Amino acid sequence: MAKKYVYLFGGRSTRAEGKAAMKNLLGGKGANLAEMTNLGIPVPPGFTISTEACNIYYNTKRLPKETKDQVKDALYKVEKIMGLKFGDPENPLLFSVRSGARVSMPGMMDTVLNIGLNDDTARGLIKLSGNERFAYDCYRRFVQMYGDVVMGADGHELEAELTKIKKDKGVALDTDLDADDLKGLVYVLKDKVKALTGNEFPSDPMEQLWGAIEAVFGSWDTPRAITYRRLNNISDDWGTAVNVQAMVFGNTGDDSATGVAFTRDPATGENIFFGEYLRNAQGEDVVAGIRTPMPVNKAGKKDPSQVSLEEVMPEQYRQLDEIYNTLEKHYRDMQDMEFTIQEGNLWMLQTRTGKRTAAAAVKIAVDMVEEGLISREDAVLRLDPEQIDQLLHPMIDPKSKKTVIGKGLPASPGAAVGRVVFTAEDAERWAAADGKKVILVRMETSPEDIHGMDVSEGILTARGGMTSHAAVVARGMGRCCVAGCGDLTIDYDKGICSIGGHVIKEGEYITLDGSAGEVILGECPTVVPSLSGAFGTLMEWADEFRVLGVMTNADTPKDAKIARDFGAQGIGLCRTEHMFFEGNRILAVREMILSDNEEGRRSALAKILPMQKGDFKGIFKVMEGLPVTIRLLDPPLHEFLPNTDDELKEVADSLNTDVSIVRAKRDALHEANPMLGHRGCRLGITFPEIYEMQVRAIMEAACEVKKEGVRVEPEIMIPLVGHVKELEILRKMTIGVAKGVMNEYGTTVEYKVGTMIELPRAALTADEIAKEAEFFSFGTNDLTQTAFGLSRDDAGKFLREYVEKKILPRDPFVALDQDGVGQLVEIGVKKGRKTRPGLKVGICGEHGGEPSSIEFCHKAGLDYVSCSPFRVPIARLAAAHAAIKNKK
Ligand code: PEP
Ligand code: MG
Repeated sequence: MAKKYVYLFGGRSTRAEGKAAMKNLLGGKGANLAEMTNLGIPVPPGFTISTEACNIYYNTKRLPKETKDQVKDALYKVEKIMGLKFGDPENPLLFSVRSGARVSMPGMMDTVLNIGLNDDTARGLIKLSGNERFAYDCYRRFVQMYGDVVMGADGHELEAELTKIKKDKGVALDTDLDADDLKGLVYVLKDKVKALTGNEFPSDPMEQLWGAIEAVFGSWDTPRAITYRRLNNISDDWGTAVNVQAMVFGNTGDDSATGVAFTRDPATGENIFFGEYLRNAQGEDVVAGIRTPMPVNKAGKKDPSQVSLEEVMPEQYRQLDEIYNTLEKHYRDMQDMEFTIQEGNLWMLQTRTGKRTAAAAVKIAVDMVEEGLISREDAVLRLDPEQIDQLLHPMIDPKSKKTVIGKGLPASPGAAVGRVVFTAEDAERWAAADGKKVILVRMETSPEDIHGMDVSEGILTARGGMTSHAAVVARGMGRCCVAGCGDLTIDYDKGICSIGGHVIKEGEYITLDGSAGEVILGECPTVVPSLSGAFGTLMEWADEFRVLGVMTNADTPKDAKIARDFGAQGIGLCRTEHMFFEGNRILAVREMILSDNEEGRRSALAKILPMQKGDFKGIFKVMEGLPVTIRLLDPPLHEFLPNTDDELKEVADSLNTDVSIVRAKRDALHEANPMLGHRGCRLGITFPEIYEMQVRAIMEAACEVKKEGVRVEPEIMIPLVGHVKELEILRKMTIGVAKGVMNEYGTTVEYKVGTMIELPRAALTADEIAKEAEFFSFGTNDLTQTAFGLSRDDAGKFLREYVEKKILPRDPFVALDQDGVGQLVEIGVKKGRKTRPGLKVGICGEHGGEPSSIEFCHKAGLDYVSCSPFRVPIARLAAAHAAIKNKK
């Protein structure tokens, strides 16, 4: 039997050949159209050509030969169901052709509507509908779309013809054009397509259909689709399916409409049926953001002048209400649906899991547990750990004074402060070259703008509703967005815009509040959010499931406090080097490094000791009752050396010596490979007084706060150990100093001495090293550097190409290389615990906050991960995901 590539769906009484579970083969859209059919929901009949056919097309630029007959056969069945014929001048059936990948890629791939129109079938459509304007409107749209998408004519040039005719006629809206205008436009557009492409516009419906099918399969390969896949980790091999579906029309008159609806509010998660529609319009009008749509229900009305679907078409609204309930209960998740009403008949064109903001995702998950729709485990798994990043970033300080200059729709929440730019290209240039924070301001956005949206802090548009391109994409990216700001006008040529009467030039600051839909003049102060309400509940559930502890990397009381408020269970890495730079300390540090003898070094260190002790006391107090892992000095000394003449002179003066001597000493300390040089515990071995001072500062701080009644748990960590002997010497020193300090203070403090595992040799000899260490912390930044032999500071320049060329799946400094570096971690854990069964093991490299690496740590049996304060909730959630997924 021939291989099956084509699957039927739709029609009010038929059963579909597919179902929701066949998503990989039929794409999300195709699988859900089939599922809706099987649920008895009215879906216009059609068929899906599978992703397998796409992959063949992608590789050979030809569709498999079986598709020809299978499409013909399916087409015939659709004709039967509809009682119409494709290409028949009396009773014409028209088709839409749409893409539909396994996961939704909004606006990224092509769609062609109204296929099958030519001069003859257009006349048939007039006869069928009794509406000449409608028929020519469809025909005009078809020529414009087909010319652009399939034949490759520049869409803007075609749109310019529409604008021109409106201008000539002195009207503003498409709906002001009559049948004759549109009919004339059809021929103008056909000529324009010919002039632009050199090809005649096809009038044969079959030729049109195959052209559209191949174009939609081909749109998997466009730069914007490729960019979108890269940004969203979607595999190139998945391919898209193509859905060919009988057209139903929302633009036949005032008893027709088209719309988009969500079963819950996609911005806040509130359990209200939420949507937008346009009367007498086709689907793309709603998403393109050209006309601003109206709310589907009375509850969604922003002002009394709006007219909801509930009021104008109560019966269809009731049906829609019933369908949304059915769909949400069936899928047990928030749905995003498209519908069309043709002459009073409601048709569902699509349902899919709705994209939502992180805040909405949290609320929906928690509400659905309370409604008994899903379990707590499901709720925790529903939330993508990376997505909650959105909730952890600053919001507009509610106490701040702000000048609101414009209002739009709260399309994607959060706050954004940045300089105004007017094109995606400028956004990219400003953000990349100068690292400037920008806000992209456009009349509306289109898929071509995606690269600029990605680098912007926020997006502001003049047109479009909650389901416009800007709104949907911004929500998906977690970018703040205010859409449909009617107070905004832009003069792209002059590089200025006006918002509520305020003229703002390119490069000037504005602030967006995406939760309130406000545009604010200038830079507005922001505050850190808290884990309260539904978010707090969800994080508590995550904590019930996770096995891994979550600590933080923090070296100031302020960061420690943020992390603790976000649920950190201690400090896993307190880097002490940053403390060496603060205020006038750097001078003392330079004095220390550049002294000729131990005495000089000790006198400089004596100046640093009280300051460092003060730092530790502050941190111990914030982290009361929790472990604080403090790492002794690690970076190569050159990082502290004076560079400028002024700095050299300053050091020379305080050392009472000549600049030339200091300069010579500095030059002598130069290293060819500082990252592999005189750093980490090697400093402690060669300048023991540095580490002695640090241990003294830690223990004095601990004794002093203990006397104040604070419970402290210091853990002293030695970096960059490669040989057990290094650790043996430094541990002995540490214990000696600690004992001395505790004697001086007449008290005792429980403390631990451990090491970082950052070198392959340390991992491979972890059984030896564990004899001297009470804990291990994998420093996977250095371990990645040393295992790959890749410089952390330089590899960024070429690693991107490694990822593009698929040599590496991801940047190994971002996501742990599990096969290589991960193996060293596993060996380290196993050998370490062989010597010391209860050995506490964690990770403190950047990977400690990255979900796939966290899952690896869970499986490798680590006790905890440590990450930056703002990633603590992400790590808690990722650790819960790891535990739930690996339970089975
Ligand atoms: C590491 O190497 O992973 C680490 C945490 O230390 P640093 O980044 O300070 O070298
Ligand atoms: Mg390191």
